This record gives sequence, structure tokens and C-alpha cells, in this order.
Amino acid sequence: MAGDDDSMRLARGPIGERRLERARRIVDLAWRDLPGQHRLLLENIGASRWQVLDRPLGNSVNDLLISAGYAQLLPAGRVSLDRALGMWIERLHLVLIDAGHSVLADLDDQTFELMLVRTAWHEWGHALSVVRAEHDDVAAGERLLDLAPDGVREFIRRAGYRRSEYTHELIAEIYALLMSRRRRGHTGQPPWLADEIYRLVRRVSGWSE
Ligand SMILES: [Zn+2]
Repeated sequence: MAGDDDSMRLARGPIGERRLERARRIVDLAWRDLPGQHRLLLENIGASRWQVLDRPLGNSVNDLLISAGYAQLLPAGRVSLDRALGMWIERLHLVLIDAGHSVLADLDDQTFELMLVRTAWHEWGHALSVVRAEHDDVAAGERLLDLAPDGVREFIRRAGYRRSEYTHELIAEIYALLMSRRRRGHTGQPPWLADEIYRLVRRVSGWSE
């Protein structure tokens, strides 16, 4: 999950067809930016489909689960999903992004794009982590988080994830940061990233640059 934050306002109005179309193009470009072998991995694990909506994720996910024959979400689960900007639904093989989320509402075009791209990369990194990280990696979440860059560690701690989610959130965040760096033309291990985390992200995502 990305974008969970206590300070979020939940009031919202429709964003309009143009902004929604723009959001869809942005996510499409984010997908095409991924290295080819990552796209292949994501296709293999059922995380290559996405929908960009102007609707809180809780209700969207709930409706999709029901129409696919699953039980509906508990109200608390729906409320917590409503706070997310993006989500990979493993059972549905689908990434959902809420382009009408209140945190995106007043952003200028460039920041809107950055947030959406980052959310999409986070969700794809998250999917790779859930499917490909080993039990030991997940168990080491607390220790790995201590090795993480300050901003990432604070973000994950503040969002109130369970310990068993630390590794996946960490991989997802670092994956998104590596992708932004790559888009700016930088490859290799960033100076701010601990060796152990870099090796983990490479193994899980198939990152080879
Ligand atoms: Zn996540």
C-alpha cells in the first residue's frame, strides 16, 4: 500500500475526465519505463494489469472482490484502503490507483505526475516483493528498516504497518526510488543505500543495472 497518512483529508470531489485521462497516461508511461525483464516478471506474477480510477479504493476493491466471487471486505478494511493512493490486489491480479485521492487534489501538474508515477512503481515493487521475497527477508523486516535511509524508515514507521509488512514496504519504496533515479539517468547502487538492502532489492526485483 502507498500513501497511507494520518493527515490525509478524505473530502473529495470528481477530478474530471481530462485529469483522469492524464493520470492514466502517466501510469502507462511509468509502466513502459520499467526495464523489460521487470515487466516480464510482473506479467508472470499477475501484476501487469492496472486501473486508474477516481474513486476511493475501499469501495472499488470491495466491488471487484464481490464480482469475482470473493467475500466482501470488512468495513475497517474498506476505510483503511480508502486512505491509500494505490494497492496491488493479489487475488485479482490487479493494481488499482486512486487518481482522485484528496492528497493529489491541489497539486500542480508536475507534482501530480511525480506522485502517481511513484505510486505505480511502489505497487509494482510491492507485488514483486510479496511474491519473490523469502520468509527470512520478511522476518528481518525490523532490522532492515533500521538500515534504511531516514526518510524511508520514517515514512514506513509513521504509516503504522505491521512488522510483517516492513520488508515489503521497504522494497517497494526503494524500488520506486531506484526507478526515479534511473529515469534521471543514474544506475548502480546509490550512495545512500545500504549494501544489504540493495542486494535484497536486486534479488527480489531482478534489478541488474
Ligand atoms: Zn506498499
